[in-house]
Amino acid sequence: MNQTSLKAVADKILSKPKNVAFTGAGISTESGIPDFRSPGGIWERFNPMEYATIEAFRRDPVKAWEMFRELSRILEEAEPNPAHLALARLEELGLLQAVITQNIDNLHQEAGSKKVVEFHGNARRLVCECGKSVEAELVKTHWLEGRDFPPRCESCGAIMKPDVVLFGEPIPRTASQEAMRLAQHPNVFLVVGTSAVVAPASYLPVVANKTGGCIVEINLEPTDLATGYAEHSLYGPAGEILPALVELVEAGLGSST
Ligand code: NAD
Repeated sequence: MNQTSLKAVADKILSKPKNVAFTGAGISTESGIPDFRSPGGIWERFNPMEYATIEAFRRDPVKAWEMFRELSRILEEAEPNPAHLALARLEELGLLQAVITQNIDNLHQEAGSKKVVEFHGNARRLVCECGKSVEAELVKTHWLEGRDFPPRCESCGAIMKPDVVLFGEPIPRTASQEAMRLAQHPNVFLVVGTSAVVAPASYLPVVANKTGGCIVEINLEPTDLATGYAEHSLYGPAGEILPALVELVEAGLGSST
């Protein structure tokens, strides 16, 4: 971990409160949820382009639910890791306006983050094309135990869909507008654990950069943001870097009071 960059980023965060985090699957790998690049595991058995498109769901929802059921089991067991907790702490300190997440795992909320923009929805809810929406918690026992599988809508009987944005679906309007608003003129824009290639989410760091934001990339390896966009790049596990960063921020707050 580069301590000089870490200190520079902490100082920049301390300079103004309009800091925003933009997170992807990489922030949750240390909670046991594989990202699309992790070798082995769920995504090698269920190619997202075969199972996680809206066309695939409409064509064969029972097949799509084979993947959702496995993913649901993984999400059920996952707990927030130190990276999620550090972002919640930064918000509590008044130095993080919001987390914009591409994740569907609810771990930011479970860590205590209050302002979370769910760009790709949340797998803890199920929706039906007739408009009915239920908490996945209510039907969890049914689908995890194989009863009434896949879950059907109580109102119309159709197979329900997790309230997530599948490939080919639009981003929910409110989340999209709110994310775009937050991405404009930030102080620090922390880009954590995302390859930043899935559009339109990938435009957000670009908007933040073009409107004067300081882009800080936190990843295991350089992404496309490393050249031309990121002012600071911190390479290593987010579960180590973010707690260290927030510790420095807290030390800075302490020394200024
Ligand atoms: P991605 O799989 O394309 O990229 C993940 C990135 O995170 C990679 O750049 C990788 O180097 C980095 N990474 C992995 N582990 C890390 C760690 N411990 N610390 C820091 N960085 C780490 O993911 P994406 O860019 O988020 O795009 C994939 C899409 O699929 C998104 O919509 C995403 O939310 C969704 N998805 C979500 C989940 C989830 O909800 N947890 C899991 C898989 C995929």
